[in-house]
Amino acid sequence: MTRIASHRGGTLEFGDSTPQGFAATARMRLDEVEFDVHPTSDGNIVVHHDATLDATTDMCGAIASMTLDQVRQATIKYSSGGHPLTLDELCALYSDSHVNLRCEIKPSVDGLPYQGFVRQVVSLLERQSMLERTTFSSFLVESIDDLSKATDRPLLWLVSPPVLKQIGPRGIVELCKLHDIPEIGVHIDTADKELTKFVTEAGLHFGCWAAHTRDQIQKALELGTKVFTTDRPSLAIAVREEFHAGGKA
Ligand code: FE
Repeated sequence: MTRIASHRGGTLEFGDSTPQGFAATARMRLDEVEFDVHPTSDGNIVVHHDATLDATTDMCGAIASMTLDQVRQATIKYSSGGHPLTLDELCALYSDSHVNLRCEIKPSVDGLPYQGFVRQVVSLLERQSMLERTTFSSFLVESIDDLSKATDRPLLWLVSPPVLKQIGPRGIVELCKLHDIPEIGVHIDTADKELTKFVTEAGLHFGCWAAHTRDQIQKALELGTKVFTTDRPSLAIAVREEFHAGGKA
């Protein structure tokens, strides 16, 4: 069955990477919770999409240049007063949940990987006994390489529309072979039957991201993708149930 990952804890239902979104996702009939991580200046790990607080909170600044206490002062928009979670707190929310983790390694504000960050994230998940329940993802091949060295957990490369266009499916598969990448995820709007067939016949797992509308979710299911991320987890669950009940959602 195609797996559903609640993207950033279900942004369109609960706000972007909010405590209530992650708490709600932990209780949903879905498979994974997708989230992004950044380091703070004092050695902590924060769950937040952007490298800065600017777009989704009432504060500004790069997370990596702030202490955890400073980041905590930020209130996330549309979150009923919620503050960014630490990765430790996220692990606590999911320790008793059937929903598994899908952790995206993000770059810093300059678009480059944070040095030594992958090992820091892997160690924390191991300490929290959550590593065995985690899949990793990144848009950065360098971070995928770091992940391969740090853990044998499943990982996938997020292929952006411009990269797919520039390199093409053949180039994507070659890069995967070169870097030992077993799985890719593409934007749902760039996925089709041909690409799905090409990638899976090359021996790679294939998934999609950003399936937020009913049509996009339906498409991900019809393509038989391994997994898709969505900002609307409740809708995705309903559409998947209709799909498997045999109806055309
Ligand atoms: Fe992400």
